[in-house]
Amino acid sequence: MFELLASTTWRTILRAKQNQIALGEDAITSINLNAIASFAGGVAVEDTRIDEAKKGCDFEVWIGSADEGWCRYAVQAKKISFRGFRYEKLRHRVRGRDQIEILQEYAAKVRAAPIFCFFNFAPHVDVFNCKRDHDETQLGCMVLPAAVVEDALRTRGRRHFGWLHAQQEAIPWRCLITCLPGHLAVRTPSASLGWQNLESFHHEELPHDLQRGLRQKGSIHADQPVSHGEVPSYPLQEGFFYPRWHVVVDTGEAGEDSRARSSQSLWHRG
Ligand SMILES: [Zn+2]
Repeated sequence: MFELLASTTWRTILRAKQNQIALGEDAITSINLNAIASFAGGVAVEDTRIDEAKKGCDFEVWIGSADEGWCRYAVQAKKISFRGFRYEKLRHRVRGRDQIEILQEYAAKVRAAPIFCFFNFAPHVDVFNCKRDHDETQLGCMVLPAAVVEDALRTRGRRHFGWLHAQQEAIPWRCLITCLPGHLAVRTPSASLGWQNLESFHHEELPHDLQRGLRQKGSIHADQPVSHGEVPSYPLQEGFFYPRWHVVVDTGEAGEDSRARSSQSLWHRG
């Protein structure tokens, strides 16, 4: 499913440009989260307490299973611009603070890996960092540790696809599910960059709110209205920023049965 969403995102961004349809990163985020929530092992819980004044990163995602434990990511989404294949608002200020700093602060507090998810189309792909199978459209949803983006922000001329996708940490988002250990082993010469050690964002258990969301989902039949879980129950602190969405991808649920169901319900087969 992550592969299908990435290649669909790649083609959709190109088509929207050709058709002169405005397509923002929020819309792409919503479409992709909706598809993940439609998958049998997927849940998306909206924290309706989060208004603009409290909104931090775009979403957080838990990937794993009851047996293997869970990797937690705090995610900031960015869409490519056709002008120079740049990311226009990469250095974005939110209420007087750098957005990337808000992302990193939240991630550190909750033990998540802070990452950027770039929604891309590009005419030239020079580097493809996954050995699993070579498909450039997989960079339609490309993830990078925030530390690499921070490095890009410090230097002129790096806020574009050409530079970012060529960094060895830049990988298709499917890799978070299929081949993360191989990518974690890759280190840049500078120790502050690169993917963090798995232990720093691995959790034994899913929070109870999200567990409930998954359980409810398992008991839902096609003819019943779908509930995607409850608002997380942790209290909100003043002056702190939170993700609007909490997303779960239960890879233990990804059997043949659920794959067949999810492929029928995807928004677009491209
Ligand atoms: Zn990979």
